Amino acid sequence: MARLVLRGVKKRFKTTDVLHGIDLEIGDREFVVFVGPSGCGKSTLLRLIAGLDPITEGEFFLNEQRMNDVAPSKRGIAMVFQSYALYPHMDVYENMAFGARLMGLDKTEVEARIAEASRMLRLDELLKRKPRELSGGQRQRVAIGRALVRKPEVFLLDEPLSNLDAALRSDVRLEIARLHRSIGGTMIYVTHDQVEAMTLADRIVVMNLGRIEQVGSPRELYETPANTFVATFIGSPK
Ligand code: ADP
Ligand code: MG
Repeated sequence: MARLVLRGVKKRFKTTDVLHGIDLEIGDREFVVFVGPSGCGKSTLLRLIAGLDPITEGEFFLNEQRMNDVAPSKRGIAMVFQSYALYPHMDVYENMAFGARLMGLDKTEVEARIAEASRMLRLDELLKRKPRELSGGQRQRVAIGRALVRKPEVFLLDEPLSNLDAALRSDVRLEIARLHRSIGGTMIYVTHDQVEAMTLADRIVVMNLGRIEQVGSPRELYETPANTFVATFIGSPK
């Protein structure tokens, strides 16, 4: 059974068509990476999956349930953004607790989940700090931790490394790969960085101009690109 199914998903903003009909199935525990040039519709697609924007046409199913009209908080999906969007006046613990409390979890359960998430992401020593007292990499780990305490079935990550310098980027990238190995779940990850895509993905979805050009394993895309666009995009150095 596919965890997520997208059928003919289109998105239009006023008169601009941004997604032209996306068809895709994503399995349980799969790590799927969307790549493509800036403006091709990657973030838009993630926002539709998260429920932050309505789908114009087409359907989206999660665990065989139609999700088009389901509120974001009821989807079991958590999204991590490119900019950390932490609450500046709250410490790390409170940042992680906030969303969990909104879900209606009691204090003990919130504490247990934060303990688990901070162990996993090595945030134990940082729980009392404010976001301004953290490095970029630490902040992004908190943002991931905040999503993790909600125990989502599906994780959406939109260019989570793009504000980090090169050294931190590989740290946090490894952290994300480790997280996926330990919690399972479905990861949907957006990047414009081919190296990230090639190292993290079970399957890569190559997008261009609101369409899917090709879907395949890193190796398939590398060895048998469907067209010149894919060959150029996957094959070219950053
Ligand atoms: P990517 O994440 O691949 O860089 P986006 O999904 O952010 O691309 O954007 C795809 C296209 O949709 C762009 O042309 C962008 O200008 C347009 N777009 C995104 N959000 C809106 C919006 N709220 N209103 C109008 N156009 C939008
Ligand atoms: Mg984007």
